[in-house]
Amino acid sequence: MFIKVKDLELRNLEFDETFAPGAIDLLEDQNQTAPLKSAGRAELIRENRGGRNVVEDIRLVGSFSTEVEVKCARCLDPVHNALAEKFDLLYRPLGVDAGRDEVAITEADTEIGYYQGEGLLLEDVLKEQILLALPVKQLCRANCKGLCPQCGKNLNVESCDCVTAMPDPRWSALEDIRKKLER
Ligand SMILES: [Zn+2]
Ligand SMILES: [Zn+2]
Repeated sequence: MFIKVKDLELRNLEFDETFAPGAIDLLEDQNQTAPLKSAGRAELIRENRGGRNVVEDIRLVGSFSTEVEVKCARCLDPVHNALAEKFDLLYRPLGVDAGRDEVAITEADTEIGYYQGEGLLLEDVLKEQILLALPVKQLCRANCKGLCPQCGKNLNVESCDCVTAMPDPRWSALEDIRKKLER
């Protein structure tokens, strides 16, 4: 759904949308397993920057819910996430903050996004919100043992003899250093 600044100049926009899995292009290792529902409102915020310089910002307030599977960072098993989040976002026209002093830009980096051209695609906003809602590095369990780097077996499920069969040269190097220090 495209949110147009021109439409918001006339009235606020209420939305209540459902996106089937696949409708929003998530990252390669993210798998949407339930419909994405999002409802909220878009409105125009006029920022007066002195004289006739008025910046038209889009404010988006709403919520979304969906389910996303991502791979465990260690063993690659799918990990299920049920997401239900709220958002309150402000988008300025792209380029409008160029040349402003650095303090203002630093503030903008954390709280404020930018839209390009005539408006903003709700799908792009939701995609970003899903990214933010998911953990940066997800594990299937806190003590996931991961995959054996040599034979590839999932060490949560079965064990292998690789580690004892082939001692890591880095450890023997450390052992040498330790022996020298002890002398
Ligand atoms: Zn795992
Ligand atoms: Zn192994």
